[in-house]
Amino acid sequence: MSNRPVLVLASANPDKVGELIDLLGDRFEVQPRPADLAETIEDEPTLTGNALKKAIEVAEFTGQIALADDTGLFVDALDGRPGVHTARFAGPDATYEDNVEKLLASLDGSPEDQRAATFRTVVALIRPDGTGLTAEGEVAGVITATRRGANGFGYDPVFQPTEGSGATFGEMSADDKAELSHRARAMASLETALGQVDLSEFG
Ligand code: IMP
Repeated sequence: MSNRPVLVLASANPDKVGELIDLLGDRFEVQPRPADLAETIEDEPTLTGNALKKAIEVAEFTGQIALADDTGLFVDALDGRPGVHTARFAGPDATYEDNVEKLLASLDGSPEDQRAATFRTVVALIRPDGTGLTAEGEVAGVITATRRGANGFGYDPVFQPTEGSGATFGEMSADDKAELSHRARAMASLETALGQVDLSEFG
């Protein structure tokens, strides 16, 4: 029996769950989102608001510490859109492909110097009593004119980080993406904040 505190993930997205288990498994006994908990309605105006809402619902439902993350893609030429609406840019039931299609169409004809964008993630770690902490991470890049690479998910084939070797996230291995991704940075920042927290207190 492990004496690590239990941590329940608010995300049921398999694309993200593995990544989060890799990042937190040493410190917490990570459990998936309960299947009988209804999906959180993400109607807050900010990433932080939505991350907190998701984490609080899971922490209250399970009586355990919960971790939620919320991500947005902020495109300069689109005045920061899709931003908080990134998952449903092309409509409420949009697929990753629909969203990428709409993004490329929205920027159609824009030269590379007008295609700057930032991926930003907020993570929230919340105790059952509703207290906890949040952390943020971001990565700057450009939206490419065409899709490149089949790895990853979401907007990965059209997001080329400024700091990389010129590859899109879709062309990178999972390890290379984790070196600079918004989510990995948010988790690193959470780790730093957690380093200052007594986990026996936290649990
Ligand atoms: P969520 O808040 O983490 O669910 O992210 C919202 C949307 O952003 C997702 O539906 C994806 O389309 C997109 N997204 C989140 N993280 C990534 C990523 O690492 N790469 C590409 N797209 C992402």
